[in-house]
Amino acid sequence: MRFMTERIARDGRALDEQVLLVDSFLNHQIDMELMKQCGSAFAQHFKGKGITRVMTVESSGIAPAAMTALEMGLPLVVFKKKTSRITNGTVYQTVVQSFTKNVRYELTVAKRFLPEGEKILFIDDFLAMGEAAIGAGRIIREAGSEIAGIGIVIEKTFQPGRKRLEAEGYDVFSLARVQSMSADGIAFVEP
Ligand code: 5GP
Repeated sequence: MRFMTERIARDGRALDEQVLLVDSFLNHQIDMELMKQCGSAFAQHFKGKGITRVMTVESSGIAPAAMTALEMGLPLVVFKKKTSRITNGTVYQTVVQSFTKNVRYELTVAKRFLPEGEKILFIDDFLAMGEAAIGAGRIIREAGSEIAGIGIVIEKTFQPGRKRLEAEGYDVFSLARVQSMSADGIAFVEP
């Protein structure tokens, strides 16, 4: 969507050809007007799909997911990233590989915040390898619920995330699709 590609073109910076820095508006300083626009766009796209709950991963997914949940009038549940396994039976956990930090963490959610029979809209700031969404999907299935849609603020189309998510049958909608990045600039896939 234009509002997002324009903002990335103006304020995003390519750290290298793989990692885009968006810390002035998305994950360090956060532009809440922009997040509101993200929430409206996701709510508009996924309306009529019977969504009952919005979920995301801490911390960078929270701002766009919160505005989406608010716009849709739905609860928001945030997956935690834990460094160790919790064995007391009160949580769902699965191992996920972090793209930017190159570490593994336990994607974790309390069972009481993920009942069965829910239709989940999963929101995240970036789509790179698809690890977070695939891990979330494993847990959501284990809980007896389903992912009814995946909303991504910035997708990098030169990485395999979308292909992996579509192979699992997910409906993926991105606000901006980055085709390539370099010191010379950022190129987008036109809608
Ligand atoms: P994936 O789940 O697709 O493997 O990786 C997505 C997660 O990695 C996002 O939640 C985000 O935190 C982080 N990430 C992936 N690519 C980038 C990037 O280019 N820039 C930033 N800032 N974070 C990224």
